[in-house]
Amino acid sequence: MSEGNKQATTLILFGATGDLAKRKLYPALYRLYKKQNHFAVIGVARRDISHDDFRAIIQESLENYTHRDDDIQDFVQKFFYYALDVKETEGYTGLKSLCDHVDSEFGLKENRMFYLSLAPEFFAPVTLNLQASGLTDNSGWKKLVIEKPFGRDLKSANELNEAIHNVFKEDEIYRIDHYLGKEMVQNIQVIRFANPIFESIWNNRYISNVQITSSETLGVGERASYYDHTGALMDMVQNHMLQMVALTAMEPPSRFETEDIRDEKVKVLRSVRQITTDDIAGHIIKGQYTRGTMPNGNVVKGYREEDNIKEKSMTETFVAAKLFIDNFRWAGVPFYIRTGKRMTVKSTEIVIQFKDAPQNPYFNNFNDIQPNLLVIHVQPDEGLSLKLNAKKFSSSGDTMPITMEFSNSDLTGADAYERLIQDCLNGDSTNFTRWDEVALSWEFVDSITKAWNEKNIPLDRYESGSMGPASAYELLDKDGLHWWPLTKVEK
Ligand code: NAD
Repeated sequence: MSEGNKQATTLILFGATGDLAKRKLYPALYRLYKKQNHFAVIGVARRDISHDDFRAIIQESLENYTHRDDDIQDFVQKFFYYALDVKETEGYTGLKSLCDHVDSEFGLKENRMFYLSLAPEFFAPVTLNLQASGLTDNSGWKKLVIEKPFGRDLKSANELNEAIHNVFKEDEIYRIDHYLGKEMVQNIQVIRFANPIFESIWNNRYISNVQITSSETLGVGERASYYDHTGALMDMVQNHMLQMVALTAMEPPSRFETEDIRDEKVKVLRSVRQITTDDIAGHIIKGQYTRGTMPNGNVVKGYREEDNIKEKSMTETFVAAKLFIDNFRWAGVPFYIRTGKRMTVKSTEIVIQFKDAPQNPYFNNFNDIQPNLLVIHVQPDEGLSLKLNAKKFSSSGDTMPITMEFSNSDLTGADAYERLIQDCLNGDSTNFTRWDEVALSWEFVDSITKAWNEKNIPLDRYESGSMGPASAYELLDKDGLHWWPLTKVEK
């Protein structure tokens, strides 16, 4: 059987006229088509449009977001459209007929990938309707791809999980965290476990602290009404930030197999110290942006002035936290994380700060010694840099910091969604989150929400265009540390 035949798939995409589909999924599907994947797509959304109208949407998306060749007509002929209000059970019968038709026309072996790019309240009802209509009684394989957020807290995530488990087995469920599709996030394990020079010092004897930042310059934009009920803790910390913590901190898996890797991530998440109501004040900062000037000179509105945001909204657009991982390797090493909107620059970086060289009288000759830093650049640049100390040229004992760099930016790699959809077609769920990872992340986040509510923790305001509130700096200052400036940024 050729590789193409193995992956023959009908992709039923719910939310086919949405922002995510247009910006990310269609360009990713086009690149997968060019790599000889064999699939057809049925787009589902509420609007009543024809197959040709839908194909025009795909073409427009490709024009805006990716390079196109003259095979575009052949590509769009694989796209079909079905108008459906996903809450209406009756409409699924027609979807099944179209699915059967597309399946036989393209020889897709009744393999079905259901991709839910919808608002989260639809995840459970759609799954149950798929079953009731017989769409999941197919002779090929079936997979459910589900966008974030997976629940709003542990309780709702549990309910959602139970609902979808009535229809799909755990190994048929692909919970997307698109950070896990990013090149350098996938590279963390290779950097660590394929390089003994790092792995041997990757512990509390040699590492002073870890800093993980994911900053955005954009404000809340068109997602305002969704975001005002969510905030940075649920939107970023529960998923992307904790996943980066887990990958940075995990033990080497016994085998590089999906479940072994996930087991190690789960162990880290289980070891993250719960934040109690009593120590919340010193460990977690929540912030909200105010009016300010971005580095490009644009004056932008404060969060509470944005359209569709409540005038006195207490939703946080920024979170900084100090975490501890209570296991043998990491005892005593703080992991600082911060994420926010309307910050000075757009960047995601993981900084490993190594401990200082031992102090003794002879070393006094070396002035200006800086800590060694290993920086993993996740975005916009994809790469790695290592900061060392070296002798200043032509001086007696003076030192200067030097940086060794590797940058992936010249290589044309796949994007996160392309990698993740390819993995899903191939049946590889390593880079998707397993239920226990999701549950443990919610448990941690719920403890913060509870403590914030009980202690009435203030919302620290920060000016748009800054790197967050003063309290986020104090968080490290108290420990005699500071946030390292982000080095690879998009303004
Ligand atoms: P969107 O609001 O732009 O699109 C939603 C889609 O759902 C539209 O096609 C709409 O027609 C369809 N829809 C809404 N109600 C429907 C109904 N009753 N019946 C049938 N179809 C209906 O949303 P989006 O930004 O594309 O996000 C989709 C999902 O992806 C969400 O879960 C979101 O959290 C997640 N996500 C989005 C992004 C992003 O960058 N946009 C990033 C990460 C995750």
